[in-house]
Amino acid sequence: MENFYRQTWAEIDLGAIKYNIEQVKAKLPQQSDIIAVVKADGYGHGSVQVANKALEAGAKALAVALLEEAFVLREAGFKVPILVLGWVSPEYAAIAAENNITLTFFQKEWMDEVALLPMKKKVKLHMKWDTGMGRIGIRTETELKNILQGLKNNKNIELTGVYTHFATADDQDLTFYHQQNKRFQELLKVFQEIWSEPVVIHTGNSAASIRFPKEMHNYIRLGISMYGLYPSKPVKLERSLQLKAAFSLHSRLVHVKRVPAGQSISYGRTYITKESEWIGTIPIGYGDGWSRRLQGKEVLVNGKRMPIVGRVCMDQVMIRLDQEYKLGTKVTLIGEQKNNSIEMDEIADYLDTINYEIPCMINERVPRRYK
Ligand code: PLP
Repeated sequence: MENFYRQTWAEIDLGAIKYNIEQVKAKLPQQSDIIAVVKADGYGHGSVQVANKALEAGAKALAVALLEEAFVLREAGFKVPILVLGWVSPEYAAIAAENNITLTFFQKEWMDEVALLPMKKKVKLHMKWDTGMGRIGIRTETELKNILQGLKNNKNIELTGVYTHFATADDQDLTFYHQQNKRFQELLKVFQEIWSEPVVIHTGNSAASIRFPKEMHNYIRLGISMYGLYPSKPVKLERSLQLKAAFSLHSRLVHVKRVPAGQSISYGRTYITKESEWIGTIPIGYGDGWSRRLQGKEVLVNGKRMPIVGRVCMDQVMIRLDQEYKLGTKVTLIGEQKNNSIEMDEIADYLDTINYEIPCMINERVPRRYK
């Protein structure tokens, strides 16, 4: 959105993104580089802007979930390696190759289908190993050997990497993390006995790379912590890293009125004023991704917490104010105001979800302002 006229916006602090990358990088050994994970439009922060800053801060490659997301980055002019983490239909291997986009693969039949395509360039692939996530990837030595056998005769494919993904690297209990790591080492041993061409190796998401920076092979795939959020409470409590949240959400009072006691506010009359109250209206609602379940949650006005009263509408919500405020007064829904703050984690807890979901949930109707 180039121009916007509304009174609600998200602010993205690109300086925080740079700072977070530098914090993580400082703990990594020399040989481990950073892949900046910018899927889902950079976790709702804006993939192009985040990618720019991440590369400036020292990241060496980008990762997305979809081929579409990789094209957005190529069209924006990025020349660095881009890895698609999700499954892409084999028929698109040629177009990926033409745009120098690396795909993830793990199925023999996928590979065999690519072998039959008329391709001018080889497609670069990273092979995914399922060491316990149970999502995508090869699971057994037999599958690995079959795929490597098939690769030898496949003129359309260049294997450039192998990787896995941890299911519990952010947990208090790290038993399963260590099991997955062990399984990865076993598969790697089999792989290296058969395959002598060089490939890059990567396993770690934010949690693994914060907790075990020395185990991170050639790359880490850094997502949530680049955006200044901790992958879980246990990781946050360990305080091994100081991060700065990049995303904040703001609006302005567009209507302020004094309402006598006993009046209802919003759909369904779920809130009735108990006394004479100042009620403010702000232009954000579930049509922006500000969930209806946020009724009762507080926002910041003049650095103080004020509750959302009554039902969240599609485009507007009402808040109970402690006094009269001028029209245009800033309201902060996520972030800092004066000496107070509402963290992303607080919103996530209220909605019984994880912080990852919150910036993704605030949709494209909310303009992003970069600073
Ligand atoms: N790697 C893969 C395969 C992922 O799916 C994700 C995110 O879900 C990441 C890396 C980044 O994880 P995080 O945001 O926890 O750093």
